[in-house]
Amino acid sequence: MEAAMPISPEKGTCPNVNRIKEFRTHHPLRMSLINLIRRTDAMRYYYDFINSQWYSHEHIQEIQFQNLKRLLTHAYNNVPYYRRTFNAHGLQVENIKDFIDFKKVPYLDKNIIKTNYADMFASNMKQFKPHPKSTGGSTGNPLLFYIDKKAHSMQWAYIYRAWNIGGWTPGEKVVVIGGTSLFSKTTAIRKWAYATINNWILFSAFDMSDDNMAAWVVKIRKFKARYMYTYANSVYVFADYIERKAINDITFDAIFTTSEVLTDKIRKKAEQVFSCKVYDEYGGSDGAGFAFECEMQKLHVVLENCVFEITNEDSSTLAPGEEGEICTTDLFNYGMPFIRYKTGDISSFSESPCSCGRGLPLLTNIKGRVSDYCTNKDGERVNYTFFDHMFKTHDWIHQFYVVQESHSKITIYFKTTKEYPLKELNSIRAMIQQKFSGFEVNIKMTNETPKTISGKHKYVINKTLEP
Ligand SMILES: [Zn+2]
Repeated sequence: MEAAMPISPEKGTCPNVNRIKEFRTHHPLRMSLINLIRRTDAMRYYYDFINSQWYSHEHIQEIQFQNLKRLLTHAYNNVPYYRRTFNAHGLQVENIKDFIDFKKVPYLDKNIIKTNYADMFASNMKQFKPHPKSTGGSTGNPLLFYIDKKAHSMQWAYIYRAWNIGGWTPGEKVVVIGGTSLFSKTTAIRKWAYATINNWILFSAFDMSDDNMAAWVVKIRKFKARYMYTYANSVYVFADYIERKAINDITFDAIFTTSEVLTDKIRKKAEQVFSCKVYDEYGGSDGAGFAFECEMQKLHVVLENCVFEITNEDSSTLAPGEEGEICTTDLFNYGMPFIRYKTGDISSFSESPCSCGRGLPLLTNIKGRVSDYCTNKDGERVNYTFFDHMFKTHDWIHQFYVVQESHSKITIYFKTTKEYPLKELNSIRAMIQQKFSGFEVNIKMTNETPKTISGKHKYVINKTLEP
């Protein structure tokens, strides 16, 4: 069952090898504690990933395919949904001899998972020590899924590798501005313990008022972190505040952005205000799929743990330069495998290689995740994650979208799957009213949901921004 990766590096060396040695001297206890509290084993894979990024593309693909065959064999033998689907399509794992054959496996999406939910679990899933995860994801439609300890460990290992490119070494201090996708919903004390052990200082992206950011500045000065991990729009709002207040002593060595599209405008402002480079990341929230920026600020796809495809409507794989939907297969998630999972995010592979020498292919920028936002009377930008966070715990909400009609009126539209409890609806209204003080707040039920040009669900329509 153990992965065949990685094998010794074929070419290249890790540019930060001395710093890694430094970490081994200084932070092993901290990293052991992080692994313990998170129930992962990230450091075990981190060093493998530091090396494997320099393997040739062909070598990485060989390792990938070996791991893919293991996953497919496991899925057929242990997961009822895959056994049924493979049989229905006349697919035999032994006849899948390359990535072209692999395209014969039907794709998966959230609706297929929900329809076949009870059959998605491996009969032997317990042995993979799965953790439950829930997401509102990119459709506003919550899904409970499970991620194996090994797959979860690898996710953190490649996040650490991505940060290492900006100079961070494991255990170093990080300022984190985010929501539940960056730090899980838990009690305040657990969150504090988690942050302290990680050497993070946490600030909420849901409350970026000037008063709060003034307090953050004081804390950041004291904390002396050289790195920041944040949503793209959050760093923009914070940079804007720092600039408006003419504060010139808050700088970083690198900023890592995630979860939202990093626009050129945001990157330029953050780099200028905080006097450092910004490195963007892409991570599919429902499954595997991760991309990170290198020193050239080009977006490389992580392939060591994942088959990453760009597909069109009928799920054929598209050529570099052609835009389509990102479709991923986590090669190490055995408890509840997602094979050829359509993420709902839009991108394309780049036609040109990167000069950094990594064997991992390049994406163009991620399309279709530009976060639309509403603005309240305090001028605070409220993006879809605020609503997504609030709605994802209500199972009757199938989908939602928000329309800011004017500077004093907001309407929330819900597409429901069943009867809604009036009490919950009133509580939602009260929370929105609190954020949008002085607004007329309307809640309406609908059967229609608006889409973007690329077919993605549109969460927020701000009519005050329309020309
Ligand atoms: Zn590169």
